[in-house]
Amino acid sequence: MTGPEMHALVERLYPLCRSITGDGVRATLDIVGEHLDLQVHEVPTGTEVLDWTVPREWNVRDAYIKDPSGRRVVDFRRSNLHVVGYSVPVSATMSLAELRPHLHTLPEQPELVPYRTSYYAETWGFCLSQDTLDGMGDGPYEVVIDSTLADGHLTYAEHVVPGTSEDEVMISCHVCHPSLANDNLAGIAVAVALAKSLDQPRHTYRFLFAPGTIGAITWLARNRERVGRVKHGLTLACAGDPGRLTYKRSRRGEAVIDRAVTHVLGDRPHHVLPFSPYGYDERQFCSPGFNLPFGSLTRTPYAGYPEYHTSGDNPEFVSPSALADTLEVLRQVAGVLDGERTYLNLSPYGEPQLGRRGLYGSLGGRSDTKQAQMAMLWVLNLSDGEHSLLDIAQRSDLPFAALREAATALLAAGLVKETA
Ligand code: ZN
Repeated sequence: MTGPEMHALVERLYPLCRSITGDGVRATLDIVGEHLDLQVHEVPTGTEVLDWTVPREWNVRDAYIKDPSGRRVVDFRRSNLHVVGYSVPVSATMSLAELRPHLHTLPEQPELVPYRTSYYAETWGFCLSQDTLDGMGDGPYEVVIDSTLADGHLTYAEHVVPGTSEDEVMISCHVCHPSLANDNLAGIAVAVALAKSLDQPRHTYRFLFAPGTIGAITWLARNRERVGRVKHGLTLACAGDPGRLTYKRSRRGEAVIDRAVTHVLGDRPHHVLPFSPYGYDERQFCSPGFNLPFGSLTRTPYAGYPEYHTSGDNPEFVSPSALADTLEVLRQVAGVLDGERTYLNLSPYGEPQLGRRGLYGSLGGRSDTKQAQMAMLWVLNLSDGEHSLLDIAQRSDLPFAALREAATALLAAGLVKETA
């Protein structure tokens, strides 16, 4: 998928009213399912998952605040951010003073509508711009939230790209935010594109599309016996804003995924952050009982931009080129994870004669001859059985793909053998 195709997917998913449960999640997965074969799971309300319980399912059809003239001052149909997520139903006539405790604004960003939820405390509310609130008279207002909070299901989906190995790479995206483009949809779009681009990978790639926190916890609870298969993991979010790429290390800190991502980010502008038990679902995957090697890839990180969790995080905030850039990095990371091997130099006493074996000739005429030659020398020198290609990449500062190519040529010439 190209950047514009990923952006079109973001735009298509944007209007849907997602939450941690409900039909918005299902509609989102239906659209993702047009691109990928999805296994959709429905987990009933009340199911115990680790220390949590699957909540009641929330759905909303309409919501508004009507002024005395009958005009919808705040209208769910214009933006689903206007309703506090998990609001219980309400139908009442109120003065502004009575309504005021249920209204949420951002006084510092008066033109933006905030995103608010109340999953675990039963309440209701509206989000609106401070500018709108400032224009509201005393009322009375007709206040309606046509929602249901009832026993139902939590919905999540998986897509698996089988590899030649059962060892898994897992990519996890949250699908629980309503109209928020970067924080939610950009990650989904890039994950879809990555899944479609994988062609007979070595690892099995598992993509998880699940609501934040409770979805990851539900997946972990239902896969407790098999989580050991996950050898490398990433949460993917905020994948399309104009900022630099940011990698947050796994709890382990120096897992292969940490080394692979930081190597690929290499010379491009980027940030690397240490692990912290906050942010996206890496905090569940890296909880100490599981301690999976899960890092987090974003552009501008969690809560790091003024549009975060506001109506400013719309499809215009996400660019096709940023989506394409995030995808390119992930494809290179997959190349490292799938290409990682350890070799043993079979001619370790002095440098073997490369020219005699045609290994110089094969490099002729290439613009990257010097790099290809250096890659061969590095692979020969460090392939003592102790160093993998990724170790060599980190030590030599050469691109992993160049080392992989050199190793393949050396293997064909009988100068190295694969040990792992
Ligand atoms: Zn968020």
